[in-house]
Amino acid sequence: MLKTETSSLAGMSSADKRALARQLLRDKAEPGAVALRRIAPGNGGQPGSNREISPELYRFDLYPSYRKLEEYAEVMRAIGISNPYFNAHQDVSNNTITIEDREYINYSGYNYLGLSGDTEVTAAAKDAIDRYGTSVSASRIVSGEIPLHRELEQELAGILGVEGCTVFVSGYGTNVSTISHLFGPKDLILHDSLIHNSLMTGCVLSGARRIPFPHNDSQALARLLEENRHYYERVLIVIEGVYSMDGDIPHLPSFIQIKKQYKAFLMVDEAHSIGVLGPQGFGIGEHFGVIPKDVDIWMGTLSKAFASCGGYIAGGRALIENLRYNAPGGILYSVGISPANAGAALASIRKMVREPERVKRLRARAKLFLTLARSRGLDTGPSAGSAVVPVILRDSILSLKLSHNLFERGINVQAVLYPAVPEDEARLRFFISTLHTEAQIRDTVDAVADELEYLRGRRQEPTPPSVSKLGNID
Ligand code: PMP
Repeated sequence: MLKTETSSLAGMSSADKRALARQLLRDKAEPGAVALRRIAPGNGGQPGSNREISPELYRFDLYPSYRKLEEYAEVMRAIGISNPYFNAHQDVSNNTITIEDREYINYSGYNYLGLSGDTEVTAAAKDAIDRYGTSVSASRIVSGEIPLHRELEQELAGILGVEGCTVFVSGYGTNVSTISHLFGPKDLILHDSLIHNSLMTGCVLSGARRIPFPHNDSQALARLLEENRHYYERVLIVIEGVYSMDGDIPHLPSFIQIKKQYKAFLMVDEAHSIGVLGPQGFGIGEHFGVIPKDVDIWMGTLSKAFASCGGYIAGGRALIENLRYNAPGGILYSVGISPANAGAALASIRKMVREPERVKRLRARAKLFLTLARSRGLDTGPSAGSAVVPVILRDSILSLKLSHNLFERGINVQAVLYPAVPEDEARLRFFISTLHTEAQIRDTVDAVADELEYLRGRRQEPTPPSVSKLGNID
């Protein structure tokens, strides 16, 4: 049994430290771990008395999730890795990034189309501020509306080929607000087992019965519908256009066929597919050439390809009007997105439409990364044709060390650990941008393969390339 008292770490062997680190990274923060003293009836536990309340219940420094963080930080120190999180950058996050005055090749940002930092997009945001200020200062329903909101929504509905669209201040909030508003306790939500936390939270808050189906398995979904459809009123199926951990794409036409067969609603989260898939970047619908209205709820974020902040729902008129007037976190009880964000998103979409080569180059770069990584024996999982390429290591410590060593070599890529993925799926995750050069991608894949051999003990010393080579723009 491993001790978890942090004070004993100094005396531990490195093998024990690794085992401890693994254990800590694997263990879920256990809500039951805090010893709660029950208030025994008739034993001084009268309502209003706080004599028997244990400190864990009124002190944030004793929260299990906080204590877990402290243990985690201690383990990182013990294995010699500095905190890889909250690294502040000093310039635009695109194919390169500057952290503490050093330039890195960057794979930790969603600037897929290179539009954040683009001069035209920046000018549009500044112009919006000049006209409308830095806030719309009210919810849109009560005087917070500016023409840019409507223009942005029309542009989005236009590229998606649907009747309408409504924009929210956050992508996360879009999912939470939309799902929890539209579905309730008499309904059923069937979702892919790998959906994003924002979708999951929306499902939980809706109070609907929730059943995950195995990742991308439309046949398993059909079986679940066959067994359960008739017990519920409305049924929602939730999938993503590109899965954010693996970069794989569901077969949308199969899901459409099933949702029609069982008279269910289909929602597709396009956070990582809008601006990435389809010849013009119009998303997974364009990629498969489906009829847009065959998907009931098109969701996306403005924070990735569209270089801004916020989320949207697009679809038929009735859906959009319903959300516009009734969804709590949408236009009703939340401020409209800021003028700068609306201006930036609108300019980004228009630029994407005018310059389809951005999307084409993004996918070519992602394909190059994938091909080179596979040729070097790296496990890229099911990633296929999107801008997300994982290198799956199945080991948290190895993932942290590889990320750390690559950072030392001038490459910024994050490790993804439990609970974002199961412990045996720990990985590095590379977000590709249209701005990455071929040379940067080649050098990166070489560096990853090389460091990995070193960390796995198959090579004595890695061969660090010069930083200037890594920073070259071809
Ligand atoms: N959906 C998915 C699939 C996501 O990956 C994310 C965030 N990465 C969101 C929704 C939330 O979007 P935002 O970060 O713009 O709030």
